[in-house]
Amino acid sequence: MACVFCAIIERQAPATVEYEDDEVIAFQDIHPVAPVHILIVPRRHIETLNDVTPEDVPALGRCLYVARQLARAKGIDERGYRVVLNVRALAGQSVYHIHFHLLGGRPFRWPPG
Ligand code: AMP
Ligand code: ZN
Repeated sequence: MACVFCAIIERQAPATVEYEDDEVIAFQDIHPVAPVHILIVPRRHIETLNDVTPEDVPALGRCLYVARQLARAKGIDERGYRVVLNVRALAGQSVYHIHFHLLGGRPFRWPPG
């Protein structure tokens, strides 16, 4: 399977899954850059935010809700955390299956690098 996140969704590749439902899966990032680093991914293969259609809006909204729920579950919601969606080359997108990063457990700079 060409897409690594589709492979995880289809259970053809390993992942430490934190949450899943009929629209969304969330799993640990394999190269964490913060004490909490979870990827929240719609099951449907959408390459980038540029490719989103109106039908995708509920799944994307659910991703943000799952981020909020996982932030609470991981104990980072009160102090603060970051949710990141990288879009294409200049933002450093490396996996072309849309995903949100939930990052927490350390301070984050603004503006981002
Ligand atoms: P991005 O740069 O926004 O496209 O983020 C892609 C993220 O996916 C990176 O943080 C990678 O560490 C992560 N990643 C790549 N392959 C895997 C994998 N097999 N399991 C979990 N995370 C992965
Ligand atoms: Zn995919």
